[in-house]
Amino acid sequence: MSDQPAISIRNLVKRYAGSGGEPGKLALEGVSFDVPEGGIFGLLGPNGAGKSTIINILAGLVKKTEGSVSIWGFDIDRDLRNAKRAIGIVPQEVVFDPFFTPFEVLENQAGLYGVRKELRRSMELLRAVHLEDKAKAYSRTLSGGMRRRLLIAKALVHTPPVLVLDEPTAGVDVELRRQLWELVREMNAGGMTIVLTTHYLEEAEELCERIAIINHGQLITNQPTAELVGMAREKIVRITVDKDLAGPPMEDAFLKAEVLAPRTLEITYDRDRLSAGQVLALIQQHGYAIADVTTREPDLEDVFVSLTSQAAK
Ligand code: ADP
Ligand code: MG
Repeated sequence: MSDQPAISIRNLVKRYAGSGGEPGKLALEGVSFDVPEGGIFGLLGPNGAGKSTIINILAGLVKKTEGSVSIWGFDIDRDLRNAKRAIGIVPQEVVFDPFFTPFEVLENQAGLYGVRKELRRSMELLRAVHLEDKAKAYSRTLSGGMRRRLLIAKALVHTPPVLVLDEPTAGVDVELRRQLWELVREMNAGGMTIVLTTHYLEEAEELCERIAIINHGQLITNQPTAELVGMAREKIVRITVDKDLAGPPMEDAFLKAEVLAPRTLEITYDRDRLSAGQVLALIQQHGYAIADVTTREPDLEDVFVSLTSQAAK
């Protein structure tokens, strides 16, 4: 492996054109990150965060406003042709001509990339995505899951070292999601660098060695998955007390204490260090009686909130 990243993105800005005098949407506000070679990299964020905008810039479908992007060492402004050859993109939307067979879909795509007949590997790709027996079926007869797998094969006809999948499992059932994860792992084991976007934390956690989180067009974090998941080791307990709070009860053992209403507070704590019972006991030591308690597991949003508040410090 070389030290050169598979993808390098610097200060990427995208402002979509406005209409009717309205200013355009600023979808990316200066995003920078590298995708290391050889791993499975997750680009995570809620709907509207800017994930597809990044992917579509990589695909050459959306023109960036500012910044630079290199794919496999090729700058997309200076060497688009080589950059495009280095990457395969599976778009978020499943669309293709229903009248071609999967084999024809791959042959046509290979033609578009100028892959010579003797170098084409349509059957091999269909085998790789477990669609060999559907090679001659009409694409319109394929199930949703088969269509997604065909799109993956289609992205691979020019044998790119980098494969990008935009929300590969949005709206697919659990069984197919497992199949797609397996396929991604197989391809990565074969040496391919994989980038996938998702808004499922669980999916990123399961598959990706490294996760970048994007929200409102800004990169919030980019770190090994194990570290990020560690942040979700926090637990949250919401407590209602018997009288108005003088302020958030401060304890070293609390990660955060927040007053939500005159008699309601939320305590964030590390579940490896404290139990909910210990949290309640500490509150009682501050002179409050407990009227009501609810706990919740932190979700992706909590990770976002804790990361953005850290960034603001
Ligand atoms: P994600 O893939 O993370 O859900 P997108 O990159 O699709 O997010 O969208 C980011 C933001 O840019 C959203 O506010 C979206 O409405 C806006 N946007 C996306 N595509 C266009 C477009 N073609 N024209 C105008 N705004 C767009
Ligand atoms: Mg998207």
